[in-house]
Amino acid sequence: MRFSLPERVSPEHGRSPRVLPEPARPEHVLNVVVILVAAGSGVRLGAAMPKAFAPLCGESLLAHALRGVFGCGEVGHVIIVAPASHLDQARDVAGLNRLDGHHPRVDVVAGGADRSASVEAGLAVLRDDDGIVLVHDVARCLAPPDLFARVIRAVREGHPAVVPGLPVTDTVKVVDDKGRVLDTPERESLRGIQTPQGFRREVLERAHAGCDSATDDAGLVERTGGHVRVVTGDHRALKITSPLDLTLAKALLQDGSYAG
Ligand code: C5P
Repeated sequence: MRFSLPERVSPEHGRSPRVLPEPARPEHVLNVVVILVAAGSGVRLGAAMPKAFAPLCGESLLAHALRGVFGCGEVGHVIIVAPASHLDQARDVAGLNRLDGHHPRVDVVAGGADRSASVEAGLAVLRDDDGIVLVHDVARCLAPPDLFARVIRAVREGHPAVVPGLPVTDTVKVVDDKGRVLDTPERESLRGIQTPQGFRREVLERAHAGCDSATDDAGLVERTGGHVRVVTGDHRALKITSPLDLTLAKALLQDGSYAG
């Protein structure tokens, strides 16, 4: 999918119209939209349903994720990208988990064949006033509201692409397809990157227009020459991929460590 950036046409006497770029709006007035990608399968989780609808302590991953999103009062619009087979269920979950007082607009759209295609399905339904776009994996369903707020704050401060990250505790090695070690990067300079990742809208649209696919959106921005800033992540934003991750997430919820 390709996106064109907004343009203005300036009529000038006796000459053909000149196309001017849209003037940048200051970050503090921009509306925040969250694209919640939730169209993945539950295969690695061993779930009988799409991962977003797998149960975690009696509620779906999608319900938990929406609580984190809705809990951040700065979010004005939420786009849930769900499996085509589960659009009505996604709408129901969103309706049931709205918080009193704060009612961001919610749209539900069908996802694509891979994560990038699902993000692009969300980008295709942005509203005109959506200026800051956060992309969040439903698989990180315990990401707390203050993590969203931290990412949004950094974008409002002028960073066009922002990712949450935590220092890695394992030593990381670069290996080839035969298992030979090629490099051991300095651990101090490594961060494990999470979502939500936040962007000025035009930066994310340009990145997706210029590249085919990536496991994270900031990687696309890097490939198009953009600068990405890391803010402190949160251990609760762990990614639920395997049954072991689900066990960890249950433990977090049950021992009260999660106060999102
Ligand atoms: O596959 P992976 O675990 O990396 O997926 C990360 C996130 O992307 C998950 O929240 C998943 O629901 C979402 N996804 C999607 N559409 C796909 C594949 C993954 O929305 N086709």
